[in-house]
Amino acid sequence: MKAKIAVLAGDGVGKEIVPEAIRVLKAVAERFHHTFEFTTGDVGGHAIDKQGVPLPQETLALAKQSQAVLLGAVGGPKWEGLDYSLRPERALLGLREQLGLYANLRPAKLYPMLSDASTLKREVIEGIDLLVVRELTGGIYFGKPKGIEKTAEGERGINTEVYTTEEIRRIALVAFEAARKRRRQVTSVDKANVLESSELWRRVVTEVGAKYPDVELSHMYVDNCAMQLIRNPKQFDVLVTTNLFGDILSDEAAMLTGSIGMLPSASLGSQTALYEPIHGSAPDIAGKNIANPIATIASAAMMLGYTFHLEKEAAAVEQAILRALEQGYRTKDIHSPGTTLVGTSEMADAILKNL
Ligand code: NAD
Repeated sequence: MKAKIAVLAGDGVGKEIVPEAIRVLKAVAERFHHTFEFTTGDVGGHAIDKQGVPLPQETLALAKQSQAVLLGAVGGPKWEGLDYSLRPERALLGLREQLGLYANLRPAKLYPMLSDASTLKREVIEGIDLLVVRELTGGIYFGKPKGIEKTAEGERGINTEVYTTEEIRRIALVAFEAARKRRRQVTSVDKANVLESSELWRRVVTEVGAKYPDVELSHMYVDNCAMQLIRNPKQFDVLVTTNLFGDILSDEAAMLTGSIGMLPSASLGSQTALYEPIHGSAPDIAGKNIANPIATIASAAMMLGYTFHLEKEAAAVEQAILRALEQGYRTKDIHSPGTTLVGTSEMADAILKNL
């Protein structure tokens, strides 16, 4: 197959990990006889330095013309003093909004050989394999009215949680479809005992669920879910939830598995999809060849599966990551005594060797 991929490395460790993921994608193309066309674009602080804005028009156009975007990370201390509207992180919101990326998928899977890297007990986390499906373009981050206004007594800050039937329906569909490729279990997370928007959420998810009799649906309040993720995370397969709850729960789920440098993500809409590691630009370790490239390489594997429907190729990359870990290769963030400490590019070399 032929595919167009936009490559937005961004800032900090993004510049180191994205090229490694591209090496892996190139190896997949060669081995499985595909043609991937890579075009690079400026984003984040790097784009501010070159073009004065975090998301230049040509980068957005490039993303729109591509089937998938591979993004590294944006941000760093250099740009922290800028006005909020000009900060590197605005590029992420711009891309999500402009590409209509309403579904954020974050798998959290524990590699058995890394069970000691988690802060939780081995018996609690061993076997974790869950997927958080977070609604990404609605809810309280976008709802109106919003703002801070003066009152007789002082000021009032306002945000509004809004969900429409259609917004809930389409994210529920993503969750049920994903569950069909996994263990066929969906847990919908809301606060339906307090919030009307959650009452509608629960009703619509239940309606969508009725069309998937082969997938088991349960509902859970968000406060209970936050607790259950720590108490017994293995009970979950697919979790589907709102923008705000998903923001918090997906970070919580990510940390169950140890290092932030291991976890990939996909953001899906109706056309171009965006794949990125869940971590940021890690300025504290940037430029030292010590960042873990696995989250980005695993994001590229998600791209192969979700956008290009190349399941065999995606599985080959995942297997190669697993083998490299089995062989004892570890970047600094996951290193423990008795394993082989390697740098960013050497970890990618080990994965490539196993591909
Ligand atoms: P961060 O994720 O960049 O780093 C948090 C910690 O995790 C750091 O100690 C870092 O060294 C470590 N870490 C991150 N990625 C790693 C990797 N691949 N391998 C090994 N260790 C890794 O979060 P932060 O420090 O809060 O933010 C730094 C900058 O990144 C900020 O400007 C922030 O706004 C931005 N940010 C960007 C994104 C994004 O681009 N999607 C996401 C989060 C934060």
